[in-house]
Amino acid sequence: KVKNNGKNGYIFFEKEMTEKLKEKAEIEKILREAIKEEAFKLVYQPQICTFTGKIVGFEALLRLRNHPISPTLFISVAEETGMIIEIGRWVTKQVINQLSIWEKMGYTAKPIAINFSAKQLNDLDYIAFLQNILKEMNVDGKYIDIEITESIFLDKTGETIEFLNKLKALGVKITIDDFGTGYSSLSYLTFLPIDKIKLDKSINDKFLELKNVKIMDSLVSLAHSLNLEVVAEGIEDINQYRRLKIAGCNYIQGYLFSKPLEVEDAEKIYYNNFLEMIE
Ligand code: C2E
Ligand code: MG
Ligand code: MG
Ligand code: MG
Repeated sequence: KVKNNGKNGYIFFEKEMTEKLKEKAEIEKILREAIKEEAFKLVYQPQICTFTGKIVGFEALLRLRNHPISPTLFISVAEETGMIIEIGRWVTKQVINQLSIWEKMGYTAKPIAINFSAKQLNDLDYIAFLQNILKEMNVDGKYIDIEITESIFLDKTGETIEFLNKLKALGVKITIDDFGTGYSSLSYLTFLPIDKIKLDKSINDKFLELKNVKIMDSLVSLAHSLNLEVVAEGIEDINQYRRLKIAGCNYIQGYLFSKPLEVEDAEKIYYNNFLEMIE
């Protein structure tokens, strides 16, 4: 039950709770309108090959056109309300459409990563939906990279693996996002149908410090020995980049190279060599 420390404690607490609920209801309303009015958009953050400096792909990140609300916040509301299923389908379709547009414009195909929430496992027809859109827009599944977090394996592991295997059958790649922040043990890396791990910013910040950097070397080696590629995200600092290169990390994503970009801006830097820009 609510603890009342002194005269105003309870009142403050209640006020805070009410405000949170109001905020949630507010965001829910904004999301419902955004679904109706197509007020979502995607921005694209480049992923850069550590060794060539070229863009190897992008991550699609969702934004609300008319509201500067943090995605972490509105995605959690979308998950709680179940709206994530519809929003997730919109994101998927939008990404495949972008791949097809870039192909028609003559750009060399580069994969785009989609964030996939554990709640979207409730979308039983997602695989069929994905397959249809790929076919309709004539896009190869190998240009889709689905990012999941370790929490997706918290329950119904068998069903989740079956789901991932169906994605793989379409040629889709699977990445473990936010690696190092979850609950799972390393052993799951040996039996999951995944292609890549994405080291979370917090892991990179900690294990690229001089006194811990051997752990980064081991982490990358471990992944490679399991035939997994490694992406480091949240890289802001050139020394972090240099050290990741020594560790053998395959790909880098972070403000050091680029923030998430509007489509037109992504097109401008599509063939850039990012190493020439920093070295
Ligand atoms: P995430 O998938 O781990 O995405 C990485 C986040 O780190 C993004 O935040 C990105 O803008 C940010 N970031 C990239 N480079 C740097 C850097 O160098 N420094 C710092 N400090 N941050 C960096 P964003 O766009 O705010 O998204 C937050 C989270 O919201 C995502 O984390 C993802 O979990 C979720 N999200 C975003 N779009 C979608 C979506 O379409 N569907 C789902 N289910 N989740 C999404
Ligand atoms: Mg992600
Ligand atoms: Mg994430
Ligand atoms: Mg992440």
